[in-house]
Amino acid sequence: MKVVKLPKIDGDPVEEVSKFGGEGIKKCIQCGACMSVCPVAMAGFNYPNKKLFKLIILGQRREILYDPSPWACVACGRCIEVCTRDVNPFSVYFAFRRIQTREFSVPSVAEEALRNLYETGYAVTGNANIRKELGLPEVKFALNNGEALKEIRCIIESTEIMQLGILPRREMF
Ligand code: SF4
Ligand code: SF4
Repeated sequence: MKVVKLPKIDGDPVEEVSKFGGEGIKKCIQCGACMSVCPVAMAGFNYPNKKLFKLIILGQRREILYDPSPWACVACGRCIEVCTRDVNPFSVYFAFRRIQTREFSVPSVAEEALRNLYETGYAVTGNANIRKELGLPEVKFALNNGEALKEIRCIIESTEIMQLGILPRREMF
């Protein structure tokens, strides 16, 4: 059998993803089971797990580096359940997100979630104005002024995420 080796134009993304916690990608056989259950695929994003893995395997890093699909992962774990190759597709997806973060490729929706988390302790806070318009009660954030929020900020501040410059460092209470 003749094996055709495609040129990897951006180094070796498989090794890069492996270094960031997605070493399972080396076992992927592109069966598509993970994609058949993935909410990212159902929502119509361009690169749900299996499709993203394909381009990583083919060395097409540049094609996907600025794609927001990995950020739509809701960490449901369905892909882990169905993968018969023990790839842990969720971990591969997150490994790629780490690479995107390192390259400053963070979509605005993820920035917003990060800011919310830093300010309130909750990634999703809802829209106060829309709630008001709909006559819904104001949401009170239980973590405000609490020890838990202090810990969350300490954890975030100890990571390289601060280097992105999207979070204002806050003095705690
Ligand atoms: S289910 Fe597993 S082997 Fe199949 S495409 Fe997804 S990650 Fe690859
Ligand atoms: S954990 Fe993420 S990648 Fe896996 S099925 Fe759920 S949304 Fe898709």
